[in-house]
Amino acid sequence: MPSAPTAVLQRLAKLGIQRRFDLILHLPLRYEDETHLYPIADAPVGETVLVEGEVTHNEVTYRPRRQLVCQVKDEGAVLHVRFLNFYPSQVKQFAIGNRVRLLGEIRHGFFGDEMVHPKTRVVKDGASLAESLTPVYPTTAGLAQPALRKLIATAMGDKPLADTLPATVLDTLNLPAFDGSVRLLHNPPPDVAQRALTEREHPAWQRLKFDELLAQQLSMRTAYRARRDKSAPILACAGDLAKQLLTSLPFGLTGAQQRVVNEIGLDLTRPYPMQRLLQGDVGSGKTIVAALAALHAIESGYQAALMAPTEILAEQHYLKLSTWLAPLGIEVAWLAGSLRKSAKTAQLARVASGEAKLAIGTHALFQDQVEFQQLGLSIVDEQHRFGVHQRLALRSKGHSPHQLMMSATPIPRTLSMSYYADLDVSVIDELPPGRTPVVTKLVSDARRDEIIERVRMKCLEGRQAYWVCPLIEESEALQLQTALDTYTVLVESLPELKVGLVHGRMKASEKAEVMAAFKINDVQLLVATTVIEVGVDVPNACLMVIEHAERMGLSQLHQLRGRVGRGAVESTCILLYTTPLSDTAKARLKVIYENTDGFEIARQDLHLRGPGEFLGARQSGAPMLRFADLEKDLHLLEAAQEVAEQLLDQAPSVAEAHLSRWLGSRTDLLKV
Ligand code: ADP
Ligand code: MG
Repeated sequence: MPSAPTAVLQRLAKLGIQRRFDLILHLPLRYEDETHLYPIADAPVGETVLVEGEVTHNEVTYRPRRQLVCQVKDEGAVLHVRFLNFYPSQVKQFAIGNRVRLLGEIRHGFFGDEMVHPKTRVVKDGASLAESLTPVYPTTAGLAQPALRKLIATAMGDKPLADTLPATVLDTLNLPAFDGSVRLLHNPPPDVAQRALTEREHPAWQRLKFDELLAQQLSMRTAYRARRDKSAPILACAGDLAKQLLTSLPFGLTGAQQRVVNEIGLDLTRPYPMQRLLQGDVGSGKTIVAALAALHAIESGYQAALMAPTEILAEQHYLKLSTWLAPLGIEVAWLAGSLRKSAKTAQLARVASGEAKLAIGTHALFQDQVEFQQLGLSIVDEQHRFGVHQRLALRSKGHSPHQLMMSATPIPRTLSMSYYADLDVSVIDELPPGRTPVVTKLVSDARRDEIIERVRMKCLEGRQAYWVCPLIEESEALQLQTALDTYTVLVESLPELKVGLVHGRMKASEKAEVMAAFKINDVQLLVATTVIEVGVDVPNACLMVIEHAERMGLSQLHQLRGRVGRGAVESTCILLYTTPLSDTAKARLKVIYENTDGFEIARQDLHLRGPGEFLGARQSGAPMLRFADLEKDLHLLEAAQEVAEQLLDQAPSVAEAHLSRWLGSRTDLLKV
């Protein structure tokens, strides 16, 4: 790092710059062209141009407002220059007779051609022009462009920067050298293809983007390999328990389910821990896959744990898996935060003794008192809802158990190739047969009464419905109040129906009671906050109303909608919205209205939000991409994936040098 005052270092740190190479890799956002001087009369309008002339007039006027108004003249024309905000030093620059160089956009004003707030420099006649385009860097308050430029130039130095990649790799991919590429990006020659630079398509950009993607792959794959170096129990069995369970089910596995069951089964027979992410849209049937994986561990003489993010979901799993496994003589333990102390002690004892082969619960499963006799497999449902630390805690139970993470939020391929490259990924890309697609309707909140009528009709026909209350992020109290109000109104409007309410603030036992009543159709209409988002499975429910759908994210809407359409009857999802709608809200509602495929929705969501927001919690564990654009640079991503494996296998020291250049001290961020 170049020596600089502490204040400057602090500002650099704000930009993520801590080392010399961070400065070198701090690349321009755009460029200004000060290499070419236009005669005022010929300068194109509406583009940033550099002109030069003599100041012939200056005046501070007060009408219509306070401003500095000047005139600058060259051989052929006069340019009006205005500053609405200005410093005394600027007035001085425009002293009559000064030669000034102005960088800005010319537009046709009322009094003739004018430039507003140009970048100004007083020059002597014949002063030389810049030899390269002027970079404009992302910066922060108190760190001006010239200062940053100087720091970067110093960091670059005059000596060529070493290339981290061997020439063979660069030749194959047809990429230019690192040194030339960064130098070009910091100081492009005047004749460079400017569009290619701005669009980041220039070979120099390609090189930098490739390097960045490669660093990401290397760090993800290093973490992956490090976990592979740990040992895990080899789980080998004949599969009798799985066979027994499958014969007892009223359905057979879909092709996709069978495929992922095989993938998982193979992983479990390895002497190192499985680290697999199972993705499947809502309703694709992940629970049975989890159950079969658990049986694999159990038949091999080990225990399994299944953890879910909410107590409602964990309990559903507990009920379902207990029913499935009881006939096989397998005991299931239940661990949740709401258990009374004595009950908890009893459950803990069953887990510790090995009497319970499967433990199901919420994050209570990875508290310190929980000891397994011999944990072989841990399964995490809805993994994206857990923080990294919680997942790690479960992994440290026992001797590196195999790990299966499940997610109903489909991850677009480019993302799973990049930010999830440290996991193996299985995808259930097929829904069980016999599902009728859900019809989605967008309805203005003004027509709420009609919708209430519709709920009445459906429920009187013997069907059931959900009414989902809006998400109010600013205030949980407000959200609860809204749910209570909605509930009261619906109870009053629908006296002939039994209406139930679940919300996040209820005790687990109360929630469970309402859910159980809904399950057996004792409750026809379930009013809920978004707690029902995951895991509820009531096939008779075929109508869902979502209030203030415009406030919800795409994946959340998709998850919610997945609660209906689980039986054979046609289901409807009504998205109530309140006007006026913002453009993003409109775009989101359009996507959810037009699509039912979770992967397509996720792809469009990624497009609307960008990877940072899309990834949410995972982002904190992974180095974000600054330069590469996953949609545009898929070919580079694919190449980086391949080269990363090659380097890790054949040239680990090259891999290490590359990683340390790109990530520096951040290399250990990724131990997830
Ligand atoms: P999710 O992937 O959302 O967790 P679930 O495991 O809850 O999905 O399954 C949704 C519903 O589909 C459940 O009622 C489940 O019993 C049923 N199901 C799962 N697999 C099949 C299948 N192959 N054929 C028919 N129904 C299935
Ligand atoms: Mg599920």
